Amino acid sequence: MNGAQDKLKVLFASAEAAPWAKVGGLGDVAAALPAALAGAAGSALDIRLILPFHAEIKRKNPTLGYLGAFSVPNQTGVFSAELYVASLHGITTYLLDSELTNHNSPVYYGDPALDGRKYAAFSVALLEAARFLDWQPDILHANDWHTALAVYALKTLYQQDSFFKETRSLMAIHNLPFNGYGSEFAMTELGFTPGTYEDLPDWARLTPLPLGIDAADQIVTVSPQYAREIQTRDFGCGLHEYLEKHHNKLIGILNGIDTRLWDPAADPYIPFPFTAADTNGKTLNKAALQRELHLEENPDIPLLTVVSRLDHQKGIGLLFDAIPDNARKPWQLVLLGTGSQDLEARAEDLMRQYPQKIVSLLRYDEAMAHKLYAAGDLFVMPSLYEPCGLSQMIAMRYGNIPVARATGGLQDSIINYHKAPDEATGFLFTEKTPEGLVSSLNSAILTFQEKETWAKLMNNAMNKDFSWKSSAQNYWSIYQEIKSKRE
Ligand code: ADP
Repeated sequence: MNGAQDKLKVLFASAEAAPWAKVGGLGDVAAALPAALAGAAGSALDIRLILPFHAEIKRKNPTLGYLGAFSVPNQTGVFSAELYVASLHGITTYLLDSELTNHNSPVYYGDPALDGRKYAAFSVALLEAARFLDWQPDILHANDWHTALAVYALKTLYQQDSFFKETRSLMAIHNLPFNGYGSEFAMTELGFTPGTYEDLPDWARLTPLPLGIDAADQIVTVSPQYAREIQTRDFGCGLHEYLEKHHNKLIGILNGIDTRLWDPAADPYIPFPFTAADTNGKTLNKAALQRELHLEENPDIPLLTVVSRLDHQKGIGLLFDAIPDNARKPWQLVLLGTGSQDLEARAEDLMRQYPQKIVSLLRYDEAMAHKLYAAGDLFVMPSLYEPCGLSQMIAMRYGNIPVARATGGLQDSIINYHKAPDEATGFLFTEKTPEGLVSSLNSAILTFQEKETWAKLMNNAMNKDFSWKSSAQNYWSIYQEIKSKRE
């Protein structure tokens, strides 16, 4: 079983992988999970990553080799693609370039038709890349709508193709509402016809993610709680009935974080390293940040932090709504994020209104993110829904205590002070209202003043194991299960 020729071959297909192309958590996962899996499975697994060769990867100019060009069929003939190979965290990584995936394009345009075209083409081309390499994957591990059509193609365009006869598929859902709607034209161009599956709603018949979900041998969400939530009307985005009916092939596995990259004891971005046993460095990081951002330098004022995409999903609006009524209380807030124009405008307005207590940094800034995790006392994450969320885990590792909504991966990764004070690692609230957030923030701020209790919370949070180790073991078991279904 473990001989060289019996290695399980997994093609891990993603739109992002950090640090080459990262927009959000998917970039972290695609960078860390294949490497963690390789560590967990050792020589029994041959896992390779494939990404579009985005403009920003070209700009970073990684060391790579050129493998050659190959053809990909579409309705009007064929299009040509080129394949490069590099190593990312020790994992063989293919970078796929072609006219149809739009040379020199951003990771996402934010335009459904342009993104639809790029990723529909990438999904088909990545299968052809495997053929070009003469490397028959046992499992295609696709991530989100961007690569869902590769899963669907295995069951449709490539169903009779002997090269993929043995290939099974895993469809990972990192964010269900982003389903690739708008890809219809591109799909038709590539020869896809509308799905005819009776369990899927009509709108889904030319929509990548639901088609990938339906075609997959296994569906994985990035937390167990999110797997339960998407079977309900509130979170299921119109697919809850389908998902409930097919719950046998749905499982949730909590993501991990790269604990070498996110390590308060050895983080090159933070001026003062610290550990759970000695958090003095954290106090110094807080003072340094307060100075740098011209906030009052005072260890007793709770420092609230946000590092987030500014998207409706993240519930940042609840925080903004709560600020005017609570402006007199002693706290400071530093927010780092980019995203929707209205949330950015509100963040700027609030900084103008309360210059002594609020700093809004409206940019993507890796170094500042590390400094905020390290300096903050409270990490605010009032997400309306959260498939997993990595930021709260990073925050806990840096003793930055999350105040978060009890949903998805937040619920799975944070132990609520109100439920289990001795083991607690954060504060959870359920109401989707500014009042719900404020009440949880108030009790966190009160607890912050009880030095001993706070030290215990920090200690609990920093000692929690958020590494990929156990998740990678779970994925490895799932891979073996999928493979055994075939045999
Ligand atoms: P999502 O994937 O929904 O964006 P996650 O919590 O899973 O949310 O992951 C977010 C990741 O992106 C974290 O690593 C976080 O530190 C990072 N991040 C988000 N916004 C910024 C920013 N403005 N600058 C730097 N890093 C950011």
